[in-house]
Amino acid sequence: MTAKLIVGNWKMNGLGAALSEAQAVAAGLGAVSPRVGLCPPATLVERMARALSVGPVLVGGQDCRAEVSGAFTGDVSAEMLADAGATLVILGHSERRAGYGETDALVAAKVEAALRAGLEPIICVGETLAEREAGRALEVVTGQVRGSLPAALAGAAFAVAYEPVWAIGTGLTPTTAQIEEVHVAIRAELASGLGASGARAPILYGGSVKPSNAAEILSAAEVGGALVGGASLKAQDFLGILAGA
Ligand code: PEP
Repeated sequence: MTAKLIVGNWKMNGLGAALSEAQAVAAGLGAVSPRVGLCPPATLVERMARALSVGPVLVGGQDCRAEVSGAFTGDVSAEMLADAGATLVILGHSERRAGYGETDALVAAKVEAALRAGLEPIICVGETLAEREAGRALEVVTGQVRGSLPAALAGAAFAVAYEPVWAIGTGLTPTTAQIEEVHVAIRAELASGLGASGARAPILYGGSVKPSNAAEILSAAEVGGALVGGASLKAQDFLGILAGA
C-alpha cells in the first residue's frame, strides 16, 4: 500500500518562532511514517526548508503565480518557491477561489507553472454548503477537477485535495460515506482524464481534520491522505493526526 500524504497548511500564521513546531514534527515522526509536508506562509518557506533539510518532511508553498517573473507586485512564482527549497505547492484552495476570484482555468495555469518548476501540486476542489444542499456536490467537484487539472499532469506527481468549503475551519466534517462518494467520483474523473497518473495520484481529504477523527477519515475508501489547516499549527496536534495514518 502506498504511504498516505499528510500536508499541513499554516495559512497566514507563523513567525520565525513557529519553526520550532515544524522541527518538533520532524523529531516526532516514527520509523514508519506517512509522507509529510508543511506549507508555511511564503516568508517562512526558505527558513523552514533549511531547518528541515536533513529530515523527510517536505516543505511547500500555499499558492503561486503562473508566470515565471514580472510586474506582479506581491506575488511569488513557482520557480521562486522551488528556489527557496519548496517541493510542494497548494493550488486552488477555496480561500483563494472565493477571496481572489481564482477560476478553474487560472488554477490549471498555476498547476502548469508548478510542473514547470518541478513542484508537486496539491490541487484543491470542494463544494459549498449551498451546492451540497442543492444535491450538486459531485457535479461541482468533478467539474472543478476537469477544469483545474491540465493534460500536462499525465505522467506527473500530483495530489488532489477534496475540501468541502463548509468543513474548512468549522469543526464540521462530512460522513465517511459522503467522503467516499466524492473521492470515488474524483478517482473516476482522474483515471478517465489522466490515465495511469490519474489512477494513482493521492486524493487527500481536507476540512476540520483533527487527532480524534483522523484515523476514521484516513481509513475511508480512496482517501490517500489529508490536508490539515488549524490542527497543523501545533506539532502535538499534527503528530496526533499523523499517528492516525
Ligand atoms: C484547509 O484550509 O485546507 C483546512 C483543511 O483547514 P482546517 O483543517 O482548519 O479545516
